[in-house]
Amino acid sequence: MDFSGKVALVTGGAGGIGRAASLGFAQGGARVAVVDRDAVGGEETARLVRAAGSEACFVQADVTKSADVQGYVKATLDAYGTIDCFFNNAGIEGKIALTGDYEEDVFDAVIAVNLKGVFLGLRHVIPVMLRQQGGAIVNTASTAGIAGSPGLSGYVASKHGVIGLTRTAASEYGRNGIRVNAVCPGPTDTRMIHSLEAQTSTEGSNSVRERYQSTIPIGRYSTPEEIANLVLFLSSELAGSITGGQYLIDGGRGASPSALR
Ligand code: NAD
Repeated sequence: MDFSGKVALVTGGAGGIGRAASLGFAQGGARVAVVDRDAVGGEETARLVRAAGSEACFVQADVTKSADVQGYVKATLDAYGTIDCFFNNAGIEGKIALTGDYEEDVFDAVIAVNLKGVFLGLRHVIPVMLRQQGGAIVNTASTAGIAGSPGLSGYVASKHGVIGLTRTAASEYGRNGIRVNAVCPGPTDTRMIHSLEAQTSTEGSNSVRERYQSTIPIGRYSTPEEIANLVLFLSSELAGSITGGQYLIDGGRGASPSALR
C-alpha cells in the first residue's frame, strides 16, 4: 500500500500491533509519529522505522490526559505539517474478574485509556483533518467490542464504546473526507495476550495458550503484522468508500459462538 508523502500518527506504538503498523506505514513510504507512555519501546519503534528508510519521531504521552494528547498532535504537526492517517490504538487489558468482583479502580483505569483515550485522540485530530479536508482514522476495538467476554467487563465496556465512537464520528465527518473505522482483533500474539494468559493461568501459560488457541478455527493467534495489514488497508486510498465499519480479524473465532466457550 502506498503512503508516500503521507504522515501517520500511531498511539500505542511502543510494541505489539502499534509497532507493526508503524513499520507497515513506513514501508509504504509514510513519515511516522510514534506515541506511547513507554519511552523505551517507543524510541525503539522510531529507530526501527528509520532503519526501514523512513522518517520517524517519538512523542511520550499518556493518552488519558488531554494536555498530552494536544501535545502529541502539536508535535506531529511541528515535525511533519499534517496528519493523514491516525491509528488510535493504545489500550490496556485490566485485571480479570467477574463483574460482581471487578475492582472499581480497574474499571476506571481501563475506561480512561481504552475509551477516553480514543475519544481524546478523535477530539484533537479531527480538527486537524477538517482543516486539511481529509484523513483516515482507524480505532482499535476488539472482538470484545462486539460480544461479551467473561472476566473482562471493563475491557468489554470500553471496546463497545470505541465502536460507538467510530460509528458516530464516521457519520459526522464523511462529507469532509474523513473516514473512521474500527478494527476488532481476536487474540493476537502481543504482550497483552501474554498478560491475560498469565492472569488466567493456574496451569502454566503454555497450556492456557493451547486452550485459548483451541477456540480459534485457524488454530493460532493472529500476528501483530496481520492486524497491521488490515489497519493499513483501511487507512489507504484503496478503502476510499469504507467508513463507519468494524472489521473482525480473529482467525474465525467469532464465526461460531459456541466455539468461544
Ligand atoms: P500492547 O500491550 O503491546 O500495546 C499496547 C500499547 O499501548 C503499549 O505500548 C502501551 O504502553 C500503550 N499504552 C497503554 N496505556 C497507555 C497510555 N495511557 N498512554 C499511552 N500509551 C499507552 O498490546 P497490543 O495487543 O499491541 O494492543 C494494541 C491494541 O490492540 C489495544 O487497544 C488492545 O486493546 C487491542 N487488542 C489487542 C488484542 C490482543 O489479543 N493482543 C486483541 C484485541 C484488541
